[in-house]
Amino acid sequence: MARTQARIALPPMAPGTRRSIALHRFGRPGARPKAYLQAAIHANELPGAMALHHLMPMLAAAERARRIKGEIVLVPTVNPIGLAQLVGNNHLGRYEFLGRDNFNRNWPELSAAVAERVGAPGRDAAANVAAIRRAARAVLAAMRPANELQALRRAILSLAVDADVVLDLHCDQEAALHLFISRRDWPGPAAALAADLGAQATLYNDPYPEALTFSGVNSALWARLADRFPEAAIPQACLSATVEYRGQRDVSHALGAADARNLYRFLVRRGIVSGRAGALPRLKADATPIGGMDVGYCPKPGILVYHVPKGARVRKGMSVCEVIDPADPRGPRARTQMPARTDGILFSRKPDGQVAWPGKVAFRIAGAKLLAHRKGLTNLDD
Ligand SMILES: [Zn+2]
Repeated sequence: MARTQARIALPPMAPGTRRSIALHRFGRPGARPKAYLQAAIHANELPGAMALHHLMPMLAAAERARRIKGEIVLVPTVNPIGLAQLVGNNHLGRYEFLGRDNFNRNWPELSAAVAERVGAPGRDAAANVAAIRRAARAVLAAMRPANELQALRRAILSLAVDADVVLDLHCDQEAALHLFISRRDWPGPAAALAADLGAQATLYNDPYPEALTFSGVNSALWARLADRFPEAAIPQACLSATVEYRGQRDVSHALGAADARNLYRFLVRRGIVSGRAGALPRLKADATPIGGMDVGYCPKPGILVYHVPKGARVRKGMSVCEVIDPADPRGPRARTQMPARTDGILFSRKPDGQVAWPGKVAFRIAGAKLLAHRKGLTNLDD
């Protein structure tokens, strides 16, 4: 079966306009295991698209050599709505202009509707997995999207919902490679993913984020059904992860090719592509709880300047960055320091020289200890 290319047509939102999503399929439809990979749901995050640009020829060669044992569905740029949001020579791809929704929040949470369809699952895990996937596809097929974004979400989720592996490729403004996963996948399959991809930090939701991210709803489907039917055998049948491929400007052929090689090796390790994955690379960092993530919020307006590079280990009390009041003539006294409130890895920050405003997220630190000051706060606040 050769690689096939398809386009999903989205309903037009204005006369004379129409967008579509390009997707590629490798392997035999319905073969297992199935992997689903997408990039740039936040449309101005293109390092993942660069990785897929390098991965696609590798998969095409594997296809010709009959090495694709499972099925791979790959969407190089999943969000044509966001890709087109060009304003005043800037590309703004994180929030939809129409409804101001963050493109990676509010994905459909299917578990309640799926539970209704599957009835009373029993002790046969394989039968339950098949029935849940069937039901999820049916629930999505019955949805009637009212606009382009809803149509995009339904179409994309329909490609992913029955996969064994879902990888949603993002990036931050300036960051070390990091993952967001479900605790139910750690260490297990997510530790292999983190090692193969070279993640410098891995943060787990326990078991899933409330904010309905794309990777979150794919993994939460299984966790929520397992909670709902405690007597039934419902495994965590989908390893779903958000992969943050460093910062927005970290796009190069060297990085893209290396990331593609790492993704390919992971697909081999999972038995989706045949071959020898070799020894698992050394894990760079143990996973840490999302409740241990320290978030630095700018206390006032000013100019943001950093003392610590991305990926660095920091200690509690150390100043990560400062906000400079440009109108204050007192030199060093015009600078407000922003200290780390935990020991850990500074996996995400902003570039130097941005404007700070009160409440702006300036940095994120992955720490092992649950933090009292983070209790009850959302972890997806920008
Ligand atoms: Zn993103």
